[in-house]
Amino acid sequence: MANQRIFFALWPSTRERDELCTLAQASAPGEGRRHNPDDLHMTLVFLGQVTASQFQCVEKVADDIQVAPFELTINHTGFWPRPKIFWAAPDHTPVQLERLVEHLNDGLRGCGFAPEQRAYKPHVTLYRKARYAKPARLGTSIFWRAREFVLASSTNSGSSTARYQVLRRWALEDGTNTG
Ligand code: ATP
Ligand code: MG
Repeated sequence: MANQRIFFALWPSTRERDELCTLAQASAPGEGRRHNPDDLHMTLVFLGQVTASQFQCVEKVADDIQVAPFELTINHTGFWPRPKIFWAAPDHTPVQLERLVEHLNDGLRGCGFAPEQRAYKPHVTLYRKARYAKPARLGTSIFWRAREFVLASSTNSGSSTARYQVLRRWALEDGTNTG
């Protein structure tokens, strides 16, 4: 598990991924490096390197999450100059998404992780190392049906192959229909 960095994320379905990919192709910010299509995701909580026992604890936290599925409307793009990231995002953060991040952070405290201090800003990174990109509204929004969340890991592979790997998936369910 050494050198493996892990994070919770929403992973797009094939249709959503293709729409994000088309958006990325149409955007082309100066000198940026586009994410491999299979790497497109929305980070929920970044954990970094974990020990084997922390990993087990993290999985248990995810097992206990009860949040209903929700929909995201990705409707604009923007640029953060410091991390040099060009991203796509929804204007509105669904309450279930806020709850999902909050419940993960609450549980992860018990595994020895300090929760992120900055407010959660849902976004999908389209380009890394971008130089500049004008913020824009999307002519056609991308609808993303979040039915599950995943635990993913990042590897430092070459730029032509996927950097991330989905380790485990959990269905979103609010617990009211499971008896
Ligand atoms: P590298 O850091 O090697 O350039 P990367 O940023 O793609 O690659 P990670 O740092 O492992 O890979 O990050 C995995 C995911 O978690 C990415 O979506 C990244 O934006 C996000 N992330 C990384 N660090 C943080 C952090 N401190 N807070 C929130 N999200 C983070
Ligand atoms: Mg990073």
